[in-house]
Amino acid sequence: MKYQLIIERLDCLQISYKTDYDLAKSSYFQTGGSVALAVYPNTIEKFTNLVAYFSSKNLDYSIFGWTSNVIFKDDTNIEIGIFSTKMRSISFEDVVYAEAGMMLPKMCNMLAKESISGFEELQGIPATLGGAIYMNAGCYGNEISRHLISVTIITKDGCLKEMQKSECKFGYRYSIFHEIDCIILSAKFIKNKGDKNILLNKILKLHNHRHFILEYGYRNVGSVFVTHDLYSDLAKNHLAYKIVLFFIRFFIHKVFRVKTNKFLNFVTFSFFHLNKFLSIVSVKTMNVLINSGSGTKAIEEYIYEVQALTDNRVEIEVI
Ligand SMILES: Cc1cc2nc3c(=O)[nH]c(=O)nc-3n(C[C@H](O)[C@H](O)[C@H](O)COP(=O)(O)OP(=O)(O)OC[C@H]3O[C@@H](n4cnc5c(N)ncnc54)[C@H](O)[C@@H]3O)c2cc1C
Repeated sequence: MKYQLIIERLDCLQISYKTDYDLAKSSYFQTGGSVALAVYPNTIEKFTNLVAYFSSKNLDYSIFGWTSNVIFKDDTNIEIGIFSTKMRSISFEDVVYAEAGMMLPKMCNMLAKESISGFEELQGIPATLGGAIYMNAGCYGNEISRHLISVTIITKDGCLKEMQKSECKFGYRYSIFHEIDCIILSAKFIKNKGDKNILLNKILKLHNHRHFILEYGYRNVGSVFVTHDLYSDLAKNHLAYKIVLFFIRFFIHKVFRVKTNKFLNFVTFSFFHLNKFLSIVSVKTMNVLINSGSGTKAIEEYIYEVQALTDNRVEIEVI
Protein backbone atom coordinates (compact mmCIF):
# COMPACT_ATOMS: atom_id res chain seq x y z
CA MET A 1 0.00 0.00 0.00
CA LYS A 2 1.24 3.52 -0.95
CA TYR A 3 0.98 4.90 2.58
CA GLN A 4 2.16 1.79 4.44
CA LEU A 5 5.25 3.44 5.93
CA ILE A 6 3.31 6.51 7.08
CA ILE A 7 0.60 4.31 8.57
CA GLU A 8 3.19 2.34 10.52
CA ARG A 9 4.51 5.60 11.89
CA LEU A 10 0.98 6.79 12.77
CA ASP A 11 0.35 3.52 14.63
CA CYS A 12 3.62 3.96 16.46
CA LEU A 13 2.67 7.55 17.44
CA GLN A 14 -0.85 6.34 18.34
CA ILE A 15 -2.46 8.80 15.95
CA SER A 16 -5.80 7.80 14.43
CA TYR A 17 -6.40 8.03 10.69
CA LYS A 18 -8.81 7.06 7.91
CA THR A 19 -7.96 6.01 4.39
CA ASP A 20 -10.03 7.05 1.35
CA TYR A 21 -11.96 9.60 3.36
CA ASP A 22 -14.96 10.55 1.25
CA LEU A 23 -15.27 14.36 1.09
CA ALA A 24 -18.66 14.23 -0.63
CA LYS A 25 -20.03 12.44 2.43
CA SER A 26 -17.98 13.93 5.23
CA SER A 27 -16.99 17.52 4.42
CA TYR A 28 -19.32 20.28 5.61
CA PHE A 29 -20.55 21.21 2.12
CA GLN A 30 -20.60 17.54 1.06
CA THR A 31 -18.76 17.88 -2.24
CA GLY A 32 -15.36 16.72 -3.48
CA GLY A 33 -13.46 13.53 -4.11
CA SER A 34 -11.43 11.92 -1.38
CA VAL A 35 -8.54 12.35 1.03
CA ALA A 36 -6.27 9.35 0.57
CA LEU A 37 -5.04 9.59 4.15
CA ALA A 38 -6.95 11.66 6.74
CA VAL A 39 -5.05 12.03 10.01
CA TYR A 40 -6.43 13.05 13.42
CA PRO A 41 -3.80 13.86 16.08
CA ASN A 42 -5.52 14.42 19.44
CA THR A 43 -2.74 16.12 21.44
CA ILE A 44 -0.28 18.91 20.74
CA GLU A 45 2.59 16.51 21.34
CA LYS A 46 1.27 14.11 18.70
CA PHE A 47 0.69 17.03 16.32
CA THR A 48 4.28 18.18 16.84
CA ASN A 49 5.70 14.69 16.31
CA LEU A 50 3.59 14.26 13.19
CA VAL A 51 4.70 17.55 11.66
CA ALA A 52 8.34 16.71 12.46
CA TYR A 53 7.91 13.32 10.76
CA PHE A 54 6.20 14.78 7.66
CA SER A 55 8.88 17.47 7.48
CA SER A 56 11.71 14.91 7.74
CA LYS A 57 10.17 12.90 4.88
CA ASN A 58 9.37 16.00 2.83
CA LEU A 59 5.68 15.04 2.75
CA ASP A 60 3.14 17.72 1.90
CA TYR A 61 -0.29 17.89 3.55
CA SER A 62 -3.33 20.12 3.97
CA ILE A 63 -4.79 21.22 7.29
CA PHE A 64 -8.52 21.41 8.05
CA GLY A 65 -10.85 22.10 10.93
CA TRP A 66 -14.58 21.49 10.51
CA THR A 67 -14.39 22.31 6.73
CA SER A 68 -17.26 24.79 7.14
CA ASN A 69 -15.45 27.35 4.98
CA VAL A 70 -14.27 25.03 2.23
CA ILE A 71 -16.00 24.07 -1.00
CA PHE A 72 -14.11 21.07 -2.35
CA LYS A 73 -14.43 20.90 -6.13
CA ASP A 74 -16.00 17.68 -7.42
CA ASP A 75 -12.63 16.53 -8.77
CA THR A 76 -10.60 17.48 -5.67
CA ASN A 77 -8.51 14.62 -4.40
CA ILE A 78 -6.10 15.23 -1.54
CA GLU A 79 -3.15 13.01 -0.69
CA ILE A 80 -2.75 13.75 3.03
CA GLY A 81 -5.11 15.85 5.16
CA ILE A 82 -4.60 16.65 8.83
CA PHE A 83 -7.82 17.37 10.72
CA SER A 84 -7.57 19.21 14.05
CA THR A 85 -11.01 18.13 15.25
CA LYS A 86 -9.81 15.65 17.86
CA MET A 87 -7.44 18.07 19.60
CA ARG A 88 -9.85 19.97 21.84
CA SER A 89 -8.64 20.54 25.41
CA ILE A 90 -9.80 23.65 27.15
CA SER A 91 -9.04 25.23 30.53
CA PHE A 92 -9.96 28.50 32.23
CA GLU A 93 -7.58 29.36 35.04
CA ASP A 94 -5.91 32.80 34.82
CA VAL A 95 -6.66 32.93 31.10
CA VAL A 96 -8.83 30.90 28.74
CA TYR A 97 -6.67 28.32 26.96
CA ALA A 98 -8.09 26.15 24.17
CA GLU A 99 -6.68 23.82 21.55
CA ALA A 100 -7.32 24.36 17.86
CA GLY A 101 -9.81 21.52 17.39
CA MET A 102 -12.17 22.82 20.04
CA MET A 103 -15.57 23.46 18.47
CA LEU A 104 -16.45 27.14 18.72
CA PRO A 105 -20.16 26.61 19.62
CA LYS A 106 -19.16 24.26 22.44
CA MET A 107 -16.42 26.59 23.65
CA CYS A 108 -18.79 29.60 23.74
CA ASN A 109 -21.42 27.63 25.68
CA MET A 110 -18.81 26.36 28.14
CA LEU A 111 -17.39 29.83 28.73
CA ALA A 112 -20.84 31.33 29.33
CA LYS A 113 -21.59 28.54 31.84
CA GLU A 114 -18.32 29.46 33.60
CA SER A 115 -19.49 33.12 33.71
CA ILE A 116 -16.78 34.18 31.22
CA SER A 117 -18.03 36.84 28.82
CA GLY A 118 -17.04 38.06 25.37
CA PHE A 119 -17.83 35.03 23.20
CA GLU A 120 -21.65 34.91 23.13
CA GLU A 121 -21.98 36.37 19.61
CA LEU A 122 -19.72 33.66 18.16
CA GLN A 123 -21.68 30.67 19.46
CA GLY A 124 -23.51 30.01 16.19
CA ILE A 125 -20.42 29.82 13.96
CA PRO A 126 -19.80 26.19 12.94
CA ALA A 127 -16.02 26.32 13.28
CA THR A 128 -13.10 24.83 15.12
CA LEU A 129 -11.08 27.36 17.09
CA GLY A 130 -8.14 26.98 14.65
CA GLY A 131 -10.36 27.62 11.61
CA ALA A 132 -12.01 30.56 13.36
CA ILE A 133 -8.63 32.16 14.15
CA TYR A 134 -7.37 31.54 10.61
CA MET A 135 -10.48 33.31 9.24
CA ASN A 136 -10.86 35.77 12.14
CA ALA A 137 -14.45 34.54 12.19
CA GLY A 138 -17.00 36.92 13.58
CA CYS A 139 -20.63 37.78 13.97
CA TYR A 140 -22.90 40.44 15.53
CA GLY A 141 -19.99 42.88 15.80
CA ASN A 142 -17.67 40.49 17.63
CA GLU A 143 -14.67 38.58 16.24
CA ILE A 144 -12.64 35.69 17.61
CA SER A 145 -9.59 37.99 17.81
CA ARG A 146 -11.28 40.51 20.13
CA HIS A 147 -10.26 38.94 23.47
CA LEU A 148 -7.31 36.99 22.11
CA ILE A 149 -3.93 37.18 23.86
CA SER A 150 -1.76 34.87 21.76
CA VAL A 151 -1.77 31.97 19.31
CA THR A 152 0.65 29.04 19.41
CA ILE A 153 1.60 27.72 15.99
CA ILE A 154 3.89 25.14 14.51
CA THR A 155 5.56 25.92 11.21
CA LYS A 156 5.71 23.23 8.55
CA ASP A 157 9.38 22.74 9.34
CA GLY A 158 8.50 21.95 12.94
CA CYS A 159 9.22 25.20 14.88
CA LEU A 160 6.85 26.04 17.70
CA LYS A 161 6.09 29.73 18.20
CA GLU A 162 3.75 31.76 20.41
CA MET A 163 2.51 34.78 18.46
CA GLN A 164 1.04 37.76 20.28
CA LYS A 165 -2.25 39.21 19.00
CA SER A 166 -0.44 42.30 17.64
CA GLU A 167 1.65 40.05 15.38
CA CYS A 168 -1.36 38.28 13.85
CA LYS A 169 -2.52 41.08 11.46
CA PHE A 170 -6.20 40.44 12.13
CA GLY A 171 -8.60 42.10 9.70
CA TYR A 172 -12.08 41.43 8.37
CA ARG A 173 -12.07 37.63 7.84
CA TYR A 174 -8.28 37.84 7.63
CA SER A 175 -5.20 36.93 9.67
CA ILE A 176 -1.47 36.54 9.08
CA PHE A 177 -2.05 32.79 8.91
CA HIS A 178 -3.18 33.28 5.29
CA GLU A 179 0.40 34.32 4.58
CA ILE A 180 2.53 31.87 6.54
CA ASP A 181 2.66 28.12 6.14
CA CYS A 182 1.80 26.95 9.64
CA ILE A 183 -0.67 25.11 11.81
CA ILE A 184 -2.52 26.83 14.62
CA LEU A 185 -2.26 24.60 17.68
CA SER A 186 -3.85 26.56 20.51
CA ALA A 187 -4.79 30.02 21.71
CA LYS A 188 -5.10 32.05 24.89
CA PHE A 189 -7.85 34.57 25.61
CA ILE A 190 -8.55 37.18 28.30
CA LYS A 191 -10.86 35.87 30.97
CA ASN A 192 -13.58 38.53 31.41
CA LYS A 193 -16.18 38.03 34.10
CA GLY A 194 -19.88 38.07 33.24
CA ASP A 195 -23.22 36.97 34.61
CA LYS A 196 -23.90 33.38 33.62
CA ASN A 197 -27.68 33.79 33.16
CA ILE A 198 -27.32 36.96 31.12
CA LEU A 199 -24.66 35.31 28.92
CA LEU A 200 -26.71 32.14 28.35
CA ASN A 201 -29.83 34.16 27.54
CA LYS A 202 -27.88 36.25 25.05
CA ILE A 203 -26.59 33.09 23.37
CA LEU A 204 -30.10 31.67 23.10
CA LYS A 205 -31.48 34.90 21.65
CA LEU A 206 -28.71 35.23 19.06
CA HIS A 207 -28.90 31.51 18.23
CA ASN A 208 -32.61 31.85 17.44
CA HIS A 209 -31.96 35.01 15.43
CA ARG A 210 -29.29 33.22 13.33
CA HIS A 211 -31.73 30.43 12.53
CA PHE A 212 -34.18 33.06 11.36
CA ILE A 213 -31.81 34.99 9.07
CA LEU A 214 -29.36 32.32 7.85
CA GLU A 215 -29.71 29.39 5.44
CA TYR A 216 -30.31 26.19 7.37
CA GLY A 217 -32.36 24.26 4.81
CA TYR A 218 -29.43 23.31 2.58
CA ARG A 219 -25.74 22.56 3.02
CA ASN A 220 -23.73 25.78 2.66
CA VAL A 221 -20.50 27.37 3.90
CA GLY A 222 -21.85 30.75 4.98
CA SER A 223 -20.82 33.83 3.00
CA VAL A 224 -18.93 33.21 -0.21
CA PHE A 225 -17.72 36.77 -0.76
CA VAL A 226 -16.06 39.06 1.79
CA THR A 227 -18.75 41.73 1.87
CA HIS A 228 -21.63 42.92 4.03
CA ASP A 229 -23.95 43.50 1.07
CA LEU A 230 -23.32 41.84 -2.29
CA TYR A 231 -26.45 43.41 -3.83
CA SER A 232 -25.10 46.94 -3.15
CA ASP A 233 -21.71 45.89 -4.55
CA LEU A 234 -23.47 44.95 -7.80
CA ALA A 235 -25.43 48.20 -7.77
CA LYS A 236 -22.27 50.35 -7.70
CA ASN A 237 -21.76 50.09 -11.47
CA HIS A 238 -25.42 49.89 -12.52
CA LEU A 239 -27.67 52.86 -11.81
CA ALA A 240 -30.84 51.15 -13.11
CA TYR A 241 -30.27 48.19 -10.81
CA LYS A 242 -29.52 50.55 -7.90
CA ILE A 243 -33.00 52.10 -8.30
CA VAL A 244 -34.64 48.66 -8.57
CA LEU A 245 -32.76 47.51 -5.45
CA PHE A 246 -33.91 50.54 -3.51
CA PHE A 247 -37.57 49.97 -4.41
CA ILE A 248 -37.50 46.24 -3.69
CA ARG A 249 -35.85 46.78 -0.33
CA PHE A 250 -38.26 49.56 0.55
CA PHE A 251 -41.55 48.04 -0.61
CA ILE A 252 -41.03 44.28 -0.42
CA HIS A 253 -38.84 44.17 2.66
CA LYS A 254 -39.83 47.24 4.70
CA VAL A 255 -43.49 47.85 3.76
CA PHE A 256 -44.62 44.24 3.12
CA ARG A 257 -42.08 42.80 5.59
CA VAL A 258 -41.05 39.91 3.32
CA LYS A 259 -38.18 38.17 5.12
CA THR A 260 -36.37 36.32 2.32
CA ASN A 261 -34.53 37.61 -0.72
CA LYS A 262 -36.27 35.19 -3.10
CA PHE A 263 -37.90 37.96 -5.14
CA LEU A 264 -34.79 40.16 -4.99
CA ASN A 265 -32.66 37.23 -6.20
CA PHE A 266 -35.08 36.63 -9.08
CA VAL A 267 -34.98 40.28 -10.17
CA THR A 268 -31.20 40.58 -9.65
CA PHE A 269 -30.45 37.41 -11.57
CA SER A 270 -32.76 38.43 -14.43
CA PHE A 271 -31.12 41.87 -14.57
CA PHE A 272 -27.59 40.45 -14.73
CA HIS A 273 -28.45 37.37 -16.85
CA LEU A 274 -27.52 34.99 -14.04
CA ASN A 275 -30.81 33.03 -14.08
CA LYS A 276 -29.11 29.68 -14.62
CA PHE A 277 -27.55 30.05 -11.15
CA LEU A 278 -30.82 30.68 -9.25
CA SER A 279 -30.97 27.08 -8.01
CA ILE A 280 -27.54 27.25 -6.35
CA VAL A 281 -28.07 30.39 -4.25
CA SER A 282 -29.88 30.64 -0.96
CA VAL A 283 -33.22 32.48 -0.84
CA LYS A 284 -31.79 34.23 2.24
CA THR A 285 -28.99 35.92 0.24
CA MET A 286 -27.13 35.57 -3.05
CA ASN A 287 -23.90 35.61 -1.00
CA VAL A 288 -24.62 32.08 0.22
CA LEU A 289 -24.34 29.13 -2.15
CA ILE A 290 -26.21 25.93 -1.43
CA ASN A 291 -25.38 22.38 -2.34
CA SER A 292 -28.39 21.56 -4.49
CA GLY A 293 -26.64 18.55 -5.98
CA SER A 294 -25.80 20.18 -9.31
CA GLY A 295 -22.01 19.97 -8.89
CA THR A 296 -19.30 22.50 -8.18
CA LYS A 297 -18.70 23.61 -11.79
CA ALA A 298 -21.73 25.92 -11.66
CA ILE A 299 -20.51 27.26 -8.31
CA GLU A 300 -17.13 28.16 -9.81
CA GLU A 301 -18.80 29.85 -12.80
CA TYR A 302 -21.13 31.82 -10.52
CA ILE A 303 -18.24 33.06 -8.38
CA TYR A 304 -16.28 34.24 -11.42
CA GLU A 305 -19.30 35.93 -13.01
CA VAL A 306 -20.21 37.82 -9.82
CA GLN A 307 -16.60 38.89 -9.36
CA ALA A 308 -16.52 40.18 -12.93
CA LEU A 309 -19.81 42.07 -12.43
CA THR A 310 -18.31 43.86 -9.42
CA ASP A 311 -15.06 44.60 -11.29
CA ASN A 312 -13.30 42.15 -8.93
CA ARG A 313 -13.93 44.47 -5.99
CA VAL A 314 -15.31 41.70 -3.78
CA GLU A 315 -12.88 39.09 -2.60
CA ILE A 316 -13.71 35.44 -2.17
CA GLU A 317 -14.06 34.26 1.43
CA VAL A 318 -14.38 30.50 0.91
CA ILE A 319 -11.38 28.31 0.27
C1 LIG B 1 -24.00 27.81 8.28
C2 LIG B 1 -22.72 28.59 8.35
C3 LIG B 1 -22.68 29.80 8.99
C4 LIG B 1 -21.47 30.52 9.08
N1 LIG B 1 -21.48 31.71 9.73
C5 LIG B 1 -20.33 32.39 9.86
C6 LIG B 1 -20.30 33.63 10.58
O1 LIG B 1 -21.29 34.08 11.13
N2 LIG B 1 -19.11 34.29 10.65
C7 LIG B 1 -17.97 33.80 10.08
O2 LIG B 1 -16.92 34.45 10.20
N3 LIG B 1 -17.97 32.64 9.38
C8 LIG B 1 -19.12 31.93 9.26
N4 LIG B 1 -19.13 30.75 8.56
C9 LIG B 1 -17.91 30.30 7.85
C10 LIG B 1 -17.02 29.32 8.65
O3 LIG B 1 -17.73 28.69 9.69
C11 LIG B 1 -15.82 30.05 9.25
O4 LIG B 1 -15.02 30.59 8.23
C12 LIG B 1 -14.94 29.16 10.13
O5 LIG B 1 -13.93 29.98 10.70
C13 LIG B 1 -14.30 27.96 9.45
O6 LIG B 1 -13.76 27.11 10.49
P1 LIG B 1 -13.38 25.59 10.22
O7 LIG B 1 -12.87 25.01 11.47
O8 LIG B 1 -14.53 24.87 9.60
O9 LIG B 1 -12.21 25.76 9.18
P2 LIG B 1 -12.04 25.00 7.77
O10 LIG B 1 -13.23 25.36 6.92
O11 LIG B 1 -11.75 23.58 7.99
O12 LIG B 1 -10.76 25.74 7.20
C14 LIG B 1 -10.81 27.08 6.80
C15 LIG B 1 -9.38 27.55 6.55
O13 LIG B 1 -8.68 27.58 7.79
C16 LIG B 1 -7.51 26.78 7.72
N5 LIG B 1 -7.36 26.11 9.02
C17 LIG B 1 -8.29 25.39 9.70
N6 LIG B 1 -7.78 24.95 10.86
C18 LIG B 1 -6.49 25.38 10.90
C19 LIG B 1 -5.42 25.25 11.85
N7 LIG B 1 -5.57 24.59 13.00
N8 LIG B 1 -4.23 25.82 11.55
C20 LIG B 1 -4.05 26.51 10.40
N9 LIG B 1 -5.01 26.67 9.48
C21 LIG B 1 -6.22 26.12 9.72
C22 LIG B 1 -7.75 25.76 6.60
O14 LIG B 1 -6.55 25.31 6.03
C23 LIG B 1 -8.59 26.60 5.63
O15 LIG B 1 -7.73 27.37 4.83
C24 LIG B 1 -20.30 30.00 8.49
C25 LIG B 1 -20.34 28.76 7.84
C26 LIG B 1 -21.52 28.07 7.79
C27 LIG B 1 -21.52 26.73 7.12
